[in-house]
Amino acid sequence: MKLDVNALRYLSKDDFRVLTAVEMGQKNHELVPIELIDSISGLKHGGAFKSIKTLMRHKLLHHDSKYYEGYRLTYMGYDFLAIRALVSRGHISGVGRQIGVGKESDIFEVTNDDGEVFALKLHRLGRTSFRAVKSKRDYLGRRQNYSWLYLSRLAALKEYAFMKALYEHGFPVPQAIDNNRHAVLMGLVNARPMVQIRTMAHPARVYLSCMELISRLAGKGLIHCDFNEFNLLISEDEELTLIDFPQMVSITHANAEELFSRDVECIIRFFSKKIGYVPEQDTNLPYVRPVFAEVASAAAADGEGALDVALEASGFQRQHQRVLEDYQAEVAAADDSADAEDEEE
Ligand code: ADP
Ligand code: MG
Repeated sequence: MKLDVNALRYLSKDDFRVLTAVEMGQKNHELVPIELIDSISGLKHGGAFKSIKTLMRHKLLHHDSKYYEGYRLTYMGYDFLAIRALVSRGHISGVGRQIGVGKESDIFEVTNDDGEVFALKLHRLGRTSFRAVKSKRDYLGRRQNYSWLYLSRLAALKEYAFMKALYEHGFPVPQAIDNNRHAVLMGLVNARPMVQIRTMAHPARVYLSCMELISRLAGKGLIHCDFNEFNLLISEDEELTLIDFPQMVSITHANAEELFSRDVECIIRFFSKKIGYVPEQDTNLPYVRPVFAEVASAAAADGEGALDVALEASGFQRQHQRVLEDYQAEVAAADDSADAEDEEE
């Protein structure tokens, strides 16, 4: 997606007021009627109408008249609100090139006034598998139809909270700097996703670092749940940085052991198939797989895990965790049924 931040400079205070009014209206309207935008923004002399035109021209608002007439934010409209907030807090002053397109995010390089460079992750839950999720939703039917704005905001809040807590506990993760809406501002890591690597100078050492990282997380009461070559960045000297935390669960989760093993097996598969290093055949390794029961009992002995601390400090609550887990389960189920349909064709 292209993010034309030049438009940021052309937008007036009133334009942003109207953009914010649409955001507020969307809390309980899928489409916000123009009269509501007008009254929330409180602008005089039809100012709201003028701004709506400008915002439409810059593709920050979308007009829809399927069920009734109204407006909603586009991804870019929501991006602008988050970026503007980060700019006004003095944390960023410019948005540069896109450095990553994840499954459910876009990542950009951003700078501040001192010329320092950071990474800005904009969450986009509901982008992929949207069609599949929608068709599945009808008969799953148990949850509310949460908007992508809400889900993306929760994912960002969770990611920020965990990244901050993990960084403070000395884990190799990017430094969490700020969070607003669906955006997470973090340190830029000078390393490549491990998926791009085919040869390693010290595969056994890197493999063990992965296993130690999984164990250390579990020791703090956490399972990453997406621990793989896409979410591990590896530097020139083969040091690892772990990213991407919205899936993380507590070690007290009902399926904790299964999720833990899945993370471990993903790494074993990657090293065996892509790097040509088969951990099970390396007799020099002190162990191949960490034992779940052992790391879990270490976590229990440690008392409160990072999870609870992180949750409390951030405002991310257990009911939010449920909403995200439900959503992720639906996406997984919809992906499976889409795969099955593809195979049938
Ligand atoms: P998603 O949740 O969409 O998978 P990720 O957080 O995994 O998003 O990021 C996607 C890609 O963006 C990564 O594979 C990596 O290339 C890049 N990236 C993400 N965060 C950083 C960072 N802090 N520093 C450098 N690159 C990053
Ligand atoms: Mg990822």
